[in-house]
Amino acid sequence: MTSDHTFVIVGASLTGAKAAETLRSEGFDGRVVLIGAEHERPYERPPLSKDYLRGESGREKVYVHEAGYYAEHEIEPRLGRTVTSLDTSTKKVALDDGEELRYDQLLLATGAEPRRLSIPGGELDGVHYLRNVDDSDALRERLDRGGSVVVVGAGWIGAEVAASARQRGLDVTIVEPASVPLERVLGAELGAIYRDIHADQGVHLLLGSGVEAFEGAARVERVRTSDGRELECDFVVVGVGVQPRAQLASAAGLAVENGVLVDERLQTSVPGVFAAGDVANAWHPFYRERIRVEHWANALNQGPVAARNMLGRHERYDALPYFFSDQYDVGMEYAGYARTWDRVVLRGDPASREFIAFWVSDDRVVAGMNVNVWDVTDQIQRLIRTRAAVDDRRLADTDVPLEDLAPTTGAGAG
Ligand SMILES: Cc1cc2nc3c(=O)[nH]c(=O)nc-3n(C[C@H](O)[C@H](O)[C@H](O)COP(=O)(O)OP(=O)(O)OC[C@H]3O[C@@H](n4cnc5c(N)ncnc54)[C@H](O)[C@@H]3O)c2cc1C
Repeated sequence: MTSDHTFVIVGASLTGAKAAETLRSEGFDGRVVLIGAEHERPYERPPLSKDYLRGESGREKVYVHEAGYYAEHEIEPRLGRTVTSLDTSTKKVALDDGEELRYDQLLLATGAEPRRLSIPGGELDGVHYLRNVDDSDALRERLDRGGSVVVVGAGWIGAEVAASARQRGLDVTIVEPASVPLERVLGAELGAIYRDIHADQGVHLLLGSGVEAFEGAARVERVRTSDGRELECDFVVVGVGVQPRAQLASAAGLAVENGVLVDERLQTSVPGVFAAGDVANAWHPFYRERIRVEHWANALNQGPVAARNMLGRHERYDALPYFFSDQYDVGMEYAGYARTWDRVVLRGDPASREFIAFWVSDDRVVAGMNVNVWDVTDQIQRLIRTRAAVDDRRLADTDVPLEDLAPTTGAGAG
């Protein structure tokens, strides 16, 4: 080792692991310490609501790296250890076992945690949340026993858990205050397609209804909804969104607002301290606003950019948001970022479950979702990036190649 610098990464999940990997692949030969509160070495979460939850794949498939990787690359994992405080003036972090570590550069990759429902019965046994592999194991064990489940919330986690439970043959009811599943991101029109997909599979959907209480003697036996229903069940899964784990950063005086505020290089308000992944609310050069993205690809790609900037590069993170979801035999990818739009243009028939949806604002495509249609993400992203004016008729016409809609260069390409 020629460098006597120590780079500390707090959070040993996808973001942290990819950052550590990048520090080494870029030639950094000082100390890399990767601290994670979980006992497992870094793993990916998407399988936890899909194949892993259904028991179709095992743990070995979820890890980011082989077991020997960290020792081989002289990365020091500190697993099962939590950073309890950060002092940016002395450049030290304190761990829960009393150890103190001095850093030269620091990355906060502390991710996000499920929002919890504080309603009567919220602490009863049988009320599950899903964030880590132990949660998924507990839920898988519950699915193995069959019965009936109420899924609270029809966001991505709720929708995927509902699909997995249904695929395992359970009786599934979704309770969701919005009028359709996934409404916040997809809007009413596309959310309705997902409503139909679940209904076709025999899921009971109670839409436009909230949850008032979980009831039961020792464990949850029924869910009381805001419209006065009582739903008998064997267990409950709550998926009502996540919140960034930014307590460490805010206690240290870093700027925090819906996550840790970072610039386009993923640096926080304190030089030498970076944040990436679910916890980072990052200035996005293409959108010219801050966005916090809670998806796998963002963790995968921001970790390496943060690592290179810890090494003194000046790399902007400007990847367009991208995520995927699998429910039953319906796979999708979504690219872009649309908070408001004028209309949605469909290419293909949603009833066939093979189509592309484009969210159009001001005659420009701001987001696209391909459902059971593959290898089109690059073209969709190019359409968004070029900000080219589009014609709805050509956008909808499956005979017009997507390449023809997006010029290879264009004004506004970010
Ligand atoms: C069940 C599930 C399914 C998903 N499916 C998809 C999907 O299909 N598609 C998609 O795009 N995205 C999906 N995601 C989202 C994706 O997994 C996340 O965006 C990604 O995990 C974020 O990675 P991260 O490293 O930033 O944070 P996290 O994965 O949240 O990891 C942060 C880590 O930091 C640790 N930590 C926090 N504070 C401290 C501290 N003070 N000291 C030490 N350690 C600390 C935590 O214990 C945790 O291990 C899914 C998420 C879940 C939970």
